[in-house]
Amino acid sequence: MKENLDLSAHLKKFFGFSNFKGEQELIIKSVLDGQDTFVIMPTGGGKSLTYQLPALISEGTAIVISPLIALMKNQVDSIRGFVENDGIAHFMNSSLNKTEQNRVRTDLREGTTKILYVAPESLTKEENIELFKSIKISFVAVDEAHCISEWGHDFRPEYRRIKEMIKGINKDIPVMALTATATPKVQQDIMKNLGMADAKSFKASFNRSNLFYEVRAKINPEKQLIKFIREREGKSGIIYCLSRKKVEEIAEVLQVNGIKAAPYHAGLDAGTRARCQDMFLMEEVDVIVATIAFGMGIDKPDVRFVIHYDMPKSLEGYYQETGRAGRDGGEGHCLAFYDYKDIEKLEKFTAGKPISEQEIARALLNEVVAYAETAMSRRKFLLHYFGEEWDEATGDGVNMDDNMVNPKERVEAKEEIKLLLETIQNVKEKFKGRYVVDVLTGVQTSAIKSSKHEQAAFFGLGKHHDSKYWNAAIRQTLVAGFIKKNIEAYGTLELTDSGKAFIAKPESFMLIKDHDYDKLVEDANAVVNQKGGAAGDEKLLKMLKDLRRKLGKQKNLPPFVIFQDPSLEEMATQYPITNEELTNIVGVGMGKATKFGKQFIELIKQYVADNGIERPQDMVVKSVANKASNKIAIIQGIDRKVPLSDLAKSRGLTDEEFVTELENVVYSGTRINIDYYINDVLDEDHIEEIFDYFREAESDSIDSALEEFDEDYSEEELRLVRLKFMSELGN
Ligand code: ADP
Ligand code: MG
Repeated sequence: MKENLDLSAHLKKFFGFSNFKGEQELIIKSVLDGQDTFVIMPTGGGKSLTYQLPALISEGTAIVISPLIALMKNQVDSIRGFVENDGIAHFMNSSLNKTEQNRVRTDLREGTTKILYVAPESLTKEENIELFKSIKISFVAVDEAHCISEWGHDFRPEYRRIKEMIKGINKDIPVMALTATATPKVQQDIMKNLGMADAKSFKASFNRSNLFYEVRAKINPEKQLIKFIREREGKSGIIYCLSRKKVEEIAEVLQVNGIKAAPYHAGLDAGTRARCQDMFLMEEVDVIVATIAFGMGIDKPDVRFVIHYDMPKSLEGYYQETGRAGRDGGEGHCLAFYDYKDIEKLEKFTAGKPISEQEIARALLNEVVAYAETAMSRRKFLLHYFGEEWDEATGDGVNMDDNMVNPKERVEAKEEIKLLLETIQNVKEKFKGRYVVDVLTGVQTSAIKSSKHEQAAFFGLGKHHDSKYWNAAIRQTLVAGFIKKNIEAYGTLELTDSGKAFIAKPESFMLIKDHDYDKLVEDANAVVNQKGGAAGDEKLLKMLKDLRRKLGKQKNLPPFVIFQDPSLEEMATQYPITNEELTNIVGVGMGKATKFGKQFIELIKQYVADNGIERPQDMVVKSVANKASNKIAIIQGIDRKVPLSDLAKSRGLTDEEFVTELENVVYSGTRINIDYYINDVLDEDHIEEIFDYFREAESDSIDSALEEFDEDYSEEELRLVRLKFMSELGN
């Protein structure tokens, strides 16, 4: 009892808090008892205090290992704030100069220092080990301990040296491991690697019941983003992208659409990054668009949404990142955009790495895919991944994900589940999900042929369902506990006891079919393509075409030089009524808008007023000049009269692609002069002949031109002169 009082008194004295949070007190007691202690607690749970407080009141020095060198100084400063003597806390990493190092060593020898933060790279330095041997070490705390495991999302090879260091000090010092994310496999790795099999474990629930999880097909994601953010005006949010380039792009798109956003990634200089963080904390910007470099150590309690523009590489990363939403317990919407193509891109990045690393990366990615495609409660799926059972009827956070709010129909699958489990048994529990699905659906892959399973009686018994169905069945039987993945074998499927019991005595099993995002994306593209042919407002389109014809006559220009059909069609859908809005229309650049736009805008304005039309204003998303950097580089190259094929090569394009790129530039209203090149490849009178043809032509079609000239000119020649023609007359 007395001890309790003491701990609370110390808590008050050093940290100014009156109560412990969660299991902090029990954890601290375990450490003070000299036990190996394992702490798994979500971000923000208050892990630091569980080693800082025992360190401050124990005899000797506690060594704290943390990978976040940038945060070490902060931590040390905050501890120094508790007491008079600065020597109480130090850090040891490569940033210290000789004098500073000596100061640290002296304080350690004199026993002044209670907490020493050590960077992973300094762990096994001979001189450090010698020093640690000569002083009293109270315990070693390993923060972010998941870094020990290759199966974590943030493996740091230096973390494997911790064991060596502890051995080197050669003392029976208690070890403490702390992490915010760890699957059961990673937990095992940590305990094994730190030799703390008998550790006392403290695991707080990972359930964040105030967070709402949602996954959407990545269709027109920028438009979805802007709509989502506009509906949450003034609220803080973070958008994660995988590449720096994407970060910059998205931040720009948001900015031009009137959203206060700033980019953040490791490629920006330290000053800019710090400024971004400050602006976010001070709410001068609402949205930070960032790579995963952002967020470590950020403690903004009222982040209202976290968006994954790209799917992350692992669910651990995903959970850590979404965990930054709603830390104050208030609203926190976690939205992710999913497209299987992104996963394939991520897989490609791992090529060239050692096989085992590739296998691990793929296994982690498969979990991400499973999460995205599943139609079961996302919270249930996530918590199961982290080794926690959660009841969707009674657990905290019911109806807080898209799948629970919009449940898909369930169908009886008793026979199918039995068949699935039997198939896993039949292939001797030696294969991964994909293989089992191929066996069920009767696909003769080379892997199947090499184990002769295509000749087995059970081959193809599940043909009456597709692979999507069987993948869903595997995921749901996993969560139901009928099968488990052997992680060491990169995810081969094995039966559990309850799985075997199910085969012996099958029961009702209501299966939910997965989402089919591929189909959604396909359908959406089909709609977009259709739209290419048909404008929203036929009547207006006709009026616009009339105007174009009239204007053409006046200026003695073929109509297609003024605006192309797709531009008019989009005008008849979006109803632009200002110059700025007009430039958002496909194929309309500043040049064209200024030269021809006025009458079109007036016509549309009149039409909108006359017919009382509600313009789809809020959904007009302004785009940043597409591939702006390509465009500028091309224009500059042409100004310098660089041969076109050299320019193409330097942009990584084929000649043909390059001409297409030029057409985009010219058709959106920029004037370029490629005479220096055309004059090289064509005679003057030939150029004139083609030029005159376009002046009289009905359309700018290259096929018609080829026909007209009976293939006297190549397609490329015709396209080049057409570029000259459009540039000189249209822009
Ligand atoms: P973690 O490392 O688990 O992510 P931190 O150790 O950084 O979490 O603590 C998160 C926040 O909780 C900090 O702002 C810390 O001051 C606060 N905190 C920790 N323990 C308590 C407590 N007992 N009472 C109030 N606040 C606490
Ligand atoms: Mg921490």
